Amino acid sequence: MSDSMRAMRLHAAGKPLELEHVARPTPGPGDVQVRVLACGVCRTDLHVLDGELSEPRLPLIPGHEIVGEVTALGEGVQTPAPGTRVRVPWLGWTCGECESCQAGRENLCERAEFTGYTRDGGYAEYCVADARYCFPLDVEDAQAAAPLLCAGLIGYRTWRLAGGESNRRLGIYGFGAAAHILAQLAVARGQEIYAFTRPGDTQAQDFARRLGAVWAGGSDEASPERLDAALLFAPVGALVPSALAAVRPGGAVVSGGIHMSDIPSFPYRLLWEERSVKSVANLTRRDGEEFLTLAPEVPINTETQAYPLEQANQALDDLREGRLSGAAVLIP
Ligand SMILES: [Zn+2]
Ligand SMILES: [Zn+2]
Repeated sequence: MSDSMRAMRLHAAGKPLELEHVARPTPGPGDVQVRVLACGVCRTDLHVLDGELSEPRLPLIPGHEIVGEVTALGEGVQTPAPGTRVRVPWLGWTCGECESCQAGRENLCERAEFTGYTRDGGYAEYCVADARYCFPLDVEDAQAAAPLLCAGLIGYRTWRLAGGESNRRLGIYGFGAAAHILAQLAVARGQEIYAFTRPGDTQAQDFARRLGAVWAGGSDEASPERLDAALLFAPVGALVPSALAAVRPGGAVVSGGIHMSDIPSFPYRLLWEERSVKSVANLTRRDGEEFLTLAPEVPINTETQAYPLEQANQALDDLREGRLSGAAVLIP
């Protein structure tokens, strides 16, 4: 049995993941094989399961917030050496040749491959990853570090695109894994957080206040202050006009999600006065290096809920139903 492993695999959109024994993946040229210590559960995984992201490889092992240990090297790879702890993110491979790659926007590479979507991911005991896209940053607590990889990185890129440190009053719409990480960075930078949750979700509102939000309420409530920028982490298109109505002239509304329900039409005056609406797509390796170096300096502490690998479907359901404070992490 030594070269088989347990994995949770998706066979068709709309179906639960199935626990299976499959062959351990062997590293090809340029790859490392990684023994998974922890893998975060991300909302993107739900979009893949639900068929809202429509081009997964099938069958698929989801999971793109992987912390593990290098166990074997493919041809041509010298580092990271076996025994090294690495983190494997969503961005799995880029071509290096297209217009976006050449311009330093590898997050927009037209031939990019993604961990846990177009390549097998970390809902398993082992995975393989292109060595050049792993972050060989040492980490003691794999469970705590896993959510930094997508929730953290995407949150950071969203915050940066919204103006980063230049803002003072920051609205955060949807207070889950990404928000709870980003709020700590923003508070450390002296920013005021206004947290908008599902109406009536007092648990998420308490969570936001505990992390330093100056105000927390339902997304159906008006913002008590005019915001400099708004970050959207909930996949709800109706939040775009609400957030635009809350930001000052020149302010940005930036959506961090990969999928969102349709945005309802809204009057031009909400956008007028140089307000902007933008989306964030994927990450660059530079985002990763910057943010993963920054996180322990802040310091950012993640709140996680661990599930055994076999309970991946339960973890996904809990995420879908908003039953989590912080981030779910699978432990093989
Ligand atoms: Zn490219
Ligand atoms: Zn993700």
